[in-house]
Amino acid sequence: MTTSKPVNHQTDNPSGTTIPQQLQQEKDQIALLKRTSQIKHKIAVLSGKGGVGKSTVAANLALILHEAGKRVGLLDIDIHGPSIPQLVGMEGHALHRTENGILPVEIFDGFKVMSIAFLLKNRDDPVIWRGPMKYNIIKQFLTDVEWGELDYLIIDSPPGTGDEPLTIAQLLKDADGAIVVTTAQQIAINDVRKCINFCHKVNWPVLGVLENMSGFVCPHCSQQVDIFKTGGGKKMAQEMNVPFLGSIPIDPNIVIAGDDGTFFKNVVKPETYKAFVDAFKTVIDCDTPAD
Ligand code: ADP
Repeated sequence: MTTSKPVNHQTDNPSGTTIPQQLQQEKDQIALLKRTSQIKHKIAVLSGKGGVGKSTVAANLALILHEAGKRVGLLDIDIHGPSIPQLVGMEGHALHRTENGILPVEIFDGFKVMSIAFLLKNRDDPVIWRGPMKYNIIKQFLTDVEWGELDYLIIDSPPGTGDEPLTIAQLLKDADGAIVVTTAQQIAINDVRKCINFCHKVNWPVLGVLENMSGFVCPHCSQQVDIFKTGGGKKMAQEMNVPFLGSIPIDPNIVIAGDDGTFFKNVVKPETYKAFVDAFKTVIDCDTPAD
């Protein structure tokens, strides 16, 4: 004889969540889609290691798109070490809210920025959060921020393959994919392979590998010195069968622009700017400013 028990609508469903939980998840999903469907392209910038210039690359990609007349959002999901507000000279900027959500910081007309740093009372406050809290804030950055209609959302993720890139990959399944930034030395290349495999696992296309800090031209003798080696990024991209976007030289003006928050004033050397434009050409859907 088979025994039966009454259906419990609170708990009986295949996903193991209660009906109210399921309804909330569906509501969240609709809110997320409502916002993100207004954004045509979503590109994440990833790296295996910190300090290889990932935020610099993300900020320059956003700037080049802005200069090409695109509406751009730059989202910093580096919860523990946000550096985008410093780079764009907006540190300490207060956020405002309307009935539709949180307003991103608009550094120029059509160039919007959001970062956890705007929510901290003091820039030296550490954020001591575990995975679920990071998931929630990243979801809020996508759902509650009034991005409006954008051509591109560029996402600056912390290095590695932890909670933040995993969260954004789960929330933005329709992203165009990821640009992976590395320097040429073996110790950085080893970690960037993990990043590429991460993209394969979450079904994100690898848009390409960018080798940063690749060669330095001495201002005194005009000789190129390969401080962090050169060519390692290209070789690894070939081995892993993903596109190689190009190399960005070491340019001391990048450091000055980052420290002074003036990167958007194009203080980098013309050859550095050209290297960025050439590298992004195959990734972005527009005539780049140098065309
Ligand atoms: P990440 O996001 O990978 O931690 P950042 O973009 O914050 O790295 O860059 C780390 C430091 O290196 C910053 O001081 C930045 O100005 C500098 N930097 C990045 N790219 C270059 C480059 N091509 N030439 C010189 N300095 C660079």
